[in-house]
This record gives sequence, structure tokens and C-alpha cells, in this order.
Amino acid sequence: MSTTAAAIKAAPKVGLVSLGCPKALVDSEQIVTQLKAEGYEISPDYAGADVVVVNTCGFLDSARAESLEAIGEALAENGKVIVTGCLGATPDLIMDKYPSVLAVTGPHRYEQVMTAVHKVVAPRHDPFLHLVPPAGVKLTPRHYAYLKISEGCNHRCSFCIIPQLRGDLVSRPVDEVLREAENLVKAGVRELLVISQDTSAYGVDVRHAAAPWRGRDRRAHMTDLAASLGELGAWVRLHYVYPYPHVDDVIPLMAEGKILPYLDIPFQHSAPKVLKAMRRPANQEKVLHRLAAWRRDVPDIAIRSTFIVGFPGETDEDFEHLLGWLKEARLDRVGCFRYEPVDGAPANALDGAVPEAVKDERWNRLMAVQQEISAQKLDEKVGRVMDVIVDEIDAEEGAICRSYADAPEIDGNVIIEAPGRLRPGQMVKVRIDAAGDYDLWGIPVEG
Ligand code: SF4
Repeated sequence: MSTTAAAIKAAPKVGLVSLGCPKALVDSEQIVTQLKAEGYEISPDYAGADVVVVNTCGFLDSARAESLEAIGEALAENGKVIVTGCLGATPDLIMDKYPSVLAVTGPHRYEQVMTAVHKVVAPRHDPFLHLVPPAGVKLTPRHYAYLKISEGCNHRCSFCIIPQLRGDLVSRPVDEVLREAENLVKAGVRELLVISQDTSAYGVDVRHAAAPWRGRDRRAHMTDLAASLGELGAWVRLHYVYPYPHVDDVIPLMAEGKILPYLDIPFQHSAPKVLKAMRRPANQEKVLHRLAAWRRDVPDIAIRSTFIVGFPGETDEDFEHLLGWLKEARLDRVGCFRYEPVDGAPANALDGAVPEAVKDERWNRLMAVQQEISAQKLDEKVGRVMDVIVDEIDAEEGAICRSYADAPEIDGNVIIEAPGRLRPGQMVKVRIDAAGDYDLWGIPVEG
């Protein structure tokens, strides 16, 4: 056994359970990067770990329950548990239920997590810094990475407790974000997924302060950031964009091919009364006009959104308004949630709770309407040639790929049934020859 192998074998091991949204995943990646930098190994199971870090999600009650369950499981299997993440913002809740938890930290408290880990198992004296790839360690496949540009949120949507948990918007310096993106691309990442609670608000808190990158000043502003990221030669996908007017300014970047023609805008509803109760901007008529203008400039633009049905006070009429709006908007990808009260959210005080059975019925009807729209839109793609990125090779299905219109995990796929020598991370041109409700099938064509 070489010295290096012996040393690796002796390295202290940390287990990591990562729950929640892509934003929490970014936190987990940073914890892993730090652990690796200090010479820790990541244990694939509870039994082999010296301590387990549980990165929790506290957004919905169901996510909180899942997080508490994960803490209980880690305690039962290992006994030494550190809790971080959104649920960690309410330590009493955790300590009341699990007094033996070693430490609780809120989201993005990497240093506190590391301090807690050090107390249980000391770091190696000779850290294997060279084991950390230049861009850090990613839990996502190597060819795509989430790029978190800010924390917190200045909005106060009535169903949401993120601002209570994470505070007001704090933007990362633009040069730091761009350097991280550059390193990721150098390390082989071919797709950058820009995330935050509200990507369009990026830089508002720092008055869009500029900083130099590649010899030129760049502003901390969504448009400038998107344009700068577009210089890196990777796919750039914008998530969680709030429908501010300046979102119009990124459309030309899509028309020029600098960033992907893809926008993830959580509209949540269309009925003015419901939007008002949600404390969201209530002018979906205007949004329809903007969608039309975006499509005029970028006919292929893919719009993803999420909606909530069964919000307190949502009447049949409000729901019909939403279905009608969806039929006009013809969005490409839609996620739908049944409203769920979240502990501490102002919406809990609203009258007009919608019975669960009605929520279910509305959810089913919305999904049926959207399924038809999605199938029609995908059908229109048959015969076209598209660039896709290979995510994985599945022994039965073939190459599971995505086009510009598909974000990982949440959207559909493009499937190549006979993948030949294709490898994950490869970009390939595909002629689409069949469409389903959410996925496409195609065959590679010469570039
Ligand atoms: S925009 Fe609304 S839903 Fe999103 S994090 Fe901010 S308050 Fe929550």
C-alpha cells in the first residue's frame, strides 16, 4: 500500500445527508469541499462515519417532517449527528425532539458546521488539499453545477418563511461568482444553473456594485451577470426569476445565443385576488403580453413555472381564471403544488381554507390541462434538430439527455435509444423523431 493510500484509509470520515432544494445542495457541496480540503473523507454509509451532518430543509411542513425523520435515522444508525440547513434556524424544535444532537447551525453556516465536526473528530494535520478539484467537489454530475449568487429574499410572499429563515437579500460579489463559474467550467462543467431565492433581484442590496473580472468592470446585476457568464462557453440557465420589468433585458442575450433561451419564473397563480393574498405582483394580463413579446424575439424560449392550487380563499372562479390563463400562456414546463400551511407563515391566518379533496381535484385538473399543452408543444419539435447534453447512459432506456428546454431533475428529457459510444457530459446534435407528454426521443445526426 502506498503512503497516500494508507493515509487516505486512516482519514476521519463524515457522513452527509442532504435534503431539500437545489439551493441546499449547493450548501452541501460547499461543506463537502471544506471537509475534503481539511482531509476528511465522505462516508457513503452511517456505519463507517465518525459523525453525520444532516443538511435539512424547512420550507414546507412535509419537508420539515422529512428532515426530522432523517435526523432520527442518523441518530439511530450512528449516534453522532450535527444538524445544519433551514430547519437548523429553529434549534429548539430539533433539540426538544432529539436532545442528543451534538450541534445545530442555520443555513450557510459552513464554519460552524466545521467547528462542530472538529469537536467530534479532529481534522488531519496534513490536509489532502490536492484531493480537492479546482472547482470544489460537486454532488451533482460533473457536467452541470448550481451557481448560487445570493442568499435571502426581500419579498414577503405570505405562504413563505424563507425570509424569516434566511433573512433579507445578500448578494455575493460579482467577481467572486464569476471566478467560481470560471473554475467550474475549467473543471469540466458544461452547464451552469444560476440559483438564488430571487435571481432578478441580484445586486439590489449592494446597489449593483461593480468589480473587475477578465480586465473589465462587471456590475452585480442579473443582466450583466448573465452576459458575463455567457462568455464562458457553457450553457447558462436562469432559475427563480421574479417577473420584474428588467427581466426583458436578458431576452436579447438569449436571441444572441449567449445564454440558454430558458426562464424559470414561479408565477404561483393568475387570479388577481389570490396573488394579492399571496403578496405577489398581480398583473398577469401584462405578463401575457410580455410572454408574447419574448416569443416574438426568441420563438424557441422555454418558460418553466410553478403554481399553487388551493391557496386560502381560492374560489372556483379563481381556479378557472388560472386554467384559462395557463391555456393562453402555453408555458413549456409547469410544476404544481397543493397549498400546504407552513409553520410561521402569514398565510396561515387567512380565512377560506380549501378542503383537501378540492385541492386534489384542482391539482388533477391543472395537470391535465398542462399535460395537453406540454404534449402539443413537444409534438411541434418532432423533425427538428436540437443540441442536447448527455446526463447518463441507462442500460435499458439508452442515453438520457436534455435540451436547452430541460433543467436537470425538474423538466423532461430527450432520449437516444441507441446511444452507441455516447458518454455523460457530451453534447450531441439530435433529430427529434418522437414526442411524449413530457419527453422527446431522437437520433444523433452529424454536427
Ligand atoms: S420570492 Fe416569495 S416565495 Fe420566493 S423566497 Fe422570497 S418570499 Fe419566499
